[in-house]
Amino acid sequence: MIDYRVDILAFGAHPDDVECAAGGTLAAETRQGYQTAIVDLTRGELGSFGSPEIRNAEALKAQELLHVSFRENLGLPDGFIANNKENQLAVIRMIRKYRPTIVLANALHDRHPDHKQAAELVSSAAYLAGLRKIETVYENVTQQPHRPTAVYHYIQDLLTEPDIVMDISAAFDKKMQAIQAYGSQFLHNNDAAYNGSKALLKQIEATNSIFGRAIDVQYAEGFTVNRYIGTNNLLQLL
Ligand SMILES: [Zn+2]
Repeated sequence: MIDYRVDILAFGAHPDDVECAAGGTLAAETRQGYQTAIVDLTRGELGSFGSPEIRNAEALKAQELLHVSFRENLGLPDGFIANNKENQLAVIRMIRKYRPTIVLANALHDRHPDHKQAAELVSSAAYLAGLRKIETVYENVTQQPHRPTAVYHYIQDLLTEPDIVMDISAAFDKKMQAIQAYGSQFLHNNDAAYNGSKALLKQIEATNSIFGRAIDVQYAEGFTVNRYIGTNNLLQLL
C-alpha cells in the first residue's frame, strides 16, 4: 500500500500557480528531505495557449524537476472555482489522503478571481478536514480526520506584504526551470504572448528578489497567513 503522507501539500487554482509562487519553496524543502505533493484544482482549460493534455504533460515535467512526490488534478471548472460543499469535500479528501503538516494555497487577494476563490476553498477545507463528523471515503476506505498545522497563502501577482519569507536562493534556478517546463505558455516566437511570458518571468524574479532583500538573501518567496502561527519554540521559527 502506498504511503501518501507528505510534509507539505500545495494546492493551485491552475497548473503552474504553485511553480510560479511557491516552486522555490517546494524545491528547497524536497532538497532537505521533506515530502511534498501538489494538487491542481483545475486543468487551466481557459488559458489562451496549449491544450489540457499538453498542460498535463508539462505539469508532470515540472513536478519531476522539483522532486515533488505526488501530483494530481481535481478537474474543477477553470474560471468558476466555488467554495461550496462539493468542492470542500473534494479538497478534504486530498488533505486526509496526504495528511500534510503544512498546506500551501493561492493568494487571498489577487488579480485572477479564481485565486481568491481557491484560497478560501482550501482554507475552509483545511479546517473542516479535522472534523470527525464530516465523513469522506477514498478508494472505498473511510478516511480519518486530519487538520494541517498551518495554511500559508503564497503571494502571486499582486505584491502583498508577506508574513513569512522563505529563502529560496539555492533553489531559484530549479524553480525557473520548472516554470519554463510549461513550454506551451513560454515558448512562443516574438509575439505578444512571448513578450508577456518574458515579462512574467521578470516579475517573478523581481518579486523574489524584493522578498529576499528583506531577509538579506538573494531570492525569497512570500507567504501570508489567515490564522495565527503557533509555536512553543520561537527559535524554531528561524
Ligand atoms: Zn492561476
